[in-house]
Amino acid sequence: MVELDRNAILKEMGITQWVLRDTSAGELPVQDESAEPVGELAPEKLEPAIEALKQPASARVPVASPQVPELDALSLDVLRDQVAECTACELANSRSHTVFGEGADQADWLFVGEAPGQQEDRKGKPFVGRAGGLLTQMIRALDKSREQVYIANTLKCRPPNNRDPLPAELKACEPFLLKQIQLLQPRVIVALGRISAQTLLNTDQPLGKLRGQVYQYGPDNIPLIVTYHPAYLLRQPADKGKVWSDLLLAHRQLPV
Ligand code: URA
Repeated sequence: MVELDRNAILKEMGITQWVLRDTSAGELPVQDESAEPVGELAPEKLEPAIEALKQPASARVPVASPQVPELDALSLDVLRDQVAECTACELANSRSHTVFGEGADQADWLFVGEAPGQQEDRKGKPFVGRAGGLLTQMIRALDKSREQVYIANTLKCRPPNNRDPLPAELKACEPFLLKQIQLLQPRVIVALGRISAQTLLNTDQPLGKLRGQVYQYGPDNIPLIVTYHPAYLLRQPADKGKVWSDLLLAHRQLPV
């Protein structure tokens, strides 16, 4: 397992322990011109995250296997084509592109977001807007690049005006995500935000209740950790410390 350097993690996540400084827009690797600075954390806000470094791995919570139809795709490429042709819900009428996901097919880490936004819909790639810039920072804090992990979404098409996905849309898209996970076989899954967490864990519990546990996902018992969505973090940078502890918890699930 990679040894994470605490100072390097703090730096990558835009967290400074000693000073509350004015972050410049250029400091964030976001692709959007309108990017806002992510802000800094007061030292005391970091303490829970620092404590998490010292704690042993938590017991795993089993998750009931989802009851959804199995797809027959034998490879990610075939599945990607199936997604591109999907008309199972109304979102097929308004999308510009499906957003299947991207990254290393053999990735240890799988990050699952909510749904494509405007830029993702335009480019057909996940997390390329402002929230994507912050996700990239989170990944770098783990000493990885975007190319070394896999990034996917719960929904493969953009809901109009970025509204929350409807239950019927989530249900229609779920078999794609499940098959994607089955084909990828990641070592750890990070559910980004409420929609992703609730869908993967088949629950309606609030995100705050779902964080801080290690779930055992699917027939292969893949460890799954829940954290805040990067878009939320852009609005609430003070919660970056919590995300950092979640990522450390996820990191501890990787085989040594
Ligand atoms: N938010 C998501 O959940 N996914 C994306 O791909 C972009 C923004």
